Parts: sequence; structure tokens; C-alpha cells
Amino acid sequence: MRETVQLRNEKAKLLGFESFAAFKLDDVMAKTTGAVDDLLTNVWGPAKARALEEAADLQDMAQSEGDNIEIAPWDWRYYSEKVRSAKHDLDEEEIKPYFQLDQMIDAAFYTATRLFGLTFKELQEQDVYHPDVRVFEVFDKNGDHLGIFIGDYFARASKRSGAWMSAFRSQQKLKGDIRPIIVNVMNFSKAPEGEQTLLTFDDARTLFHEFGHGLHGLMSNVTHPLVSGTSVARDFVELPSQLFEHWLAQPEILKKFARHYQTGEVIPEELLERLLAAANFNQGFATVEYLATAIVDMAIHKEDELDNLDPAQMEKKILEGIGMPKEIIMRHRIPHLLHAFAGDGYSAGYYSYLWSEVMDADAFEAFEETGDAFDPDTAAKLEKFIYAAGGSQDPAKAYMDFRGKMPSIEPLLKGRGLVN
Ligand SMILES: [Zn+2]
Repeated sequence: MRETVQLRNEKAKLLGFESFAAFKLDDVMAKTTGAVDDLLTNVWGPAKARALEEAADLQDMAQSEGDNIEIAPWDWRYYSEKVRSAKHDLDEEEIKPYFQLDQMIDAAFYTATRLFGLTFKELQEQDVYHPDVRVFEVFDKNGDHLGIFIGDYFARASKRSGAWMSAFRSQQKLKGDIRPIIVNVMNFSKAPEGEQTLLTFDDARTLFHEFGHGLHGLMSNVTHPLVSGTSVARDFVELPSQLFEHWLAQPEILKKFARHYQTGEVIPEELLERLLAAANFNQGFATVEYLATAIVDMAIHKEDELDNLDPAQMEKKILEGIGMPKEIIMRHRIPHLLHAFAGDGYSAGYYSYLWSEVMDADAFEAFEETGDAFDPDTAAKLEKFIYAAGGSQDPAKAYMDFRGKMPSIEPLLKGRGLVN
């Protein structure tokens, strides 16, 4: 690891940068180590404060169970599960009947119609690579062909796990007006023949997330394939997808689509409130364990004194410096921070998950400020500067053009329940 960090530093110096972190950030949205440090530091305070409150709850729970211990990192998940079931008694089986797969696909399409005027027509006769696969032709607001959207929703033995979007063909105009072919792949378990496939709320959110990436590919309107669709900076690519998730929880969408698969009844308000409250449970812990890793990743790639670098010592010193709560450990300690050390993809880049979340929370706030989650003017700017622009412009400028300002962290803190 010392050698890896030394070589990275040497490479950055040869290219004229102050540090490897400065080199990595130069062509992404954050641009400077200062901007990333500000983000991480500003979220750290509220996250740590909430985590300490959570730790106190766990301590109370242990006491009430007659366990005479001081909460340690290895106790967290055990007692946290007990606190969760006491505070948020939420049964997945109670939720699922309201989230049918077909209804959620329609909900994602409907959101795209309300925001961007897109329409979708299923192509029944299309030859596909598996009988479960569904194909849709997508039309823009003028009714012209925009692209092809393929939905491959069910788990099967030959598929790798997870959920993702990819492009079988990317949009470009260099070799003519070439429209994209976009696929969303999921791993939902398929209901038996004749029954409805039901989703958890997290599954439904994943569907919206990947469909957001899908729209980024479908709505792309650039000349060069190199910057088409999702070919944008690492700390910008999750904006269209994470932002799209916000519409799932909108009352207009839920009233229309979150209906009981047998009775057609809309999801009860009370159940919905419990569902959304439970989503913010344990966010102090989640944010702290993540941030600790992001802060160490950034610090080690900014370091200049590398001759006698002892990564474990350095990790310890950084955590002491930020006052890491003794009840929590890093999500990934350096020896298994594969993001930064198995390859180069996320070195000095682990921060980018949070960066994207700050942006998506702030971007959705742009709609909320108008009082209309589908505000047409905001949607038009979102289309022009974000979903259609690919990597054809500087990401910070694209965001400024859409929002009129750089993102602030308050909407994120509110969204994660880290401030009241
Ligand atoms: Zn994503």
C-alpha cells in the first residue's frame, strides 16, 4: 500500500499536481481537495452528533435487556436491530402488496411523462434474448422516436446479482442521427405463473434509480459518442438516477400507483409515514462509518510524507483527529478498501457517493421550492442541462445552469434526518 501511494504521488507530481488527490479531482465536478474536505467536514459534525444519540439509545436498550456492557462496535448491529423493531415496527409483508412490479414500471414511465413529456409503447413482437425481457419504444414530447428501452427485471441463474443500466447502443450524431438502445437489468424474484410480482419499497426505489440512469441514456442529445448519456464525471453520474428516486415517494405517484394488488386500495397514509420514518433510522451510524472511510481515503492520497508511511498508524491518527465515536468503526478500513486499492477507480473518490447525494437532494429541492414536484420550467432546465447534456459540458457549469447556484448540504442533512 505504501508503494502504491508513493507511485500515485510520483505520477501526480510528474503531471504537475500537488498531490494524487489534486490530480484525481482536477477533471471531476468537485475539482479541488478543498471542496471535498469542506463537504466531508460539514456533514461530519451533524452525522457524529446523531450517531452519539443513536449510541445512547443502544446503551439504554442493552441496560433494559439486563446486559451490563458498554456498547462496542461489535454490539452495534445487534442492539440497533432491537431498537429498530421497538421504534419502527415495520413488516415488509405489510408493504409489498402495495408495490406491484407492473405498477412501478408504469409509475416510472408516468413520472417521465409528467416531467419530460416522454411516452412509451410496448413492442410485443420484438425478438428478445429471453422471454421475460420487455421492449418499449420511447417517444419524445413531439411524438418523435427517442430510443428503445429494454426492461430485464427478473432474477435467473445466468444473471449476475445487483441492478444496473447499460447501453447496447449509445446516442450520437457523429455518424448520423443515432438513437440509443438502453437496458435496465434487475434481479426481482418472479411471482409464480398467474400471480403479481410484488416489490419491497427498496426494490421500487432501485427500479426508479436505474430508470433515472436509463433516461440519462435515452434523452442524451450530444454529437460525440465519447460524452454520450452516462459518460460523465464520476461524481456527477449518480445525479440523474438518485434524483429520479425522489419522485417515487411523491403523493401523486403513490396515490396513482401504490395500490393493493387485490383490493386496489391506495397505501394507507399511516403505513406510508411509518415506512418513510423507518428509512431514516440509524442514519447517524451509516453516515459516520461511510465518512470515516471517505476522510481517510482523501487524507492518504493528499499525504506528501510517504517515505515512512505506515497506513495503519495514519488511519489511527486521522480517526483520532476527527473524534471517531468509539462505538463505530470505518465502513472499510484501509486494508479492505478495495475501492481505492484494488484498482484506481475510486482512489481519492470514495467521497463521490456523498457528493452525488448532496446534489440530488439539492436538485429535488429546486422542484420543492416551486411547490410543484413536476414544475415544467424546472423540468425543462433539468432536461436541457442534465439529462440531455451527457458529458458535453463541465459538470459544475451544468449544475449551475440548471440550479442557478452550487448545491448546498442542508437538503441532504434534512433528507437523512441528521438535522431537525
Ligand atoms: Zn446508480
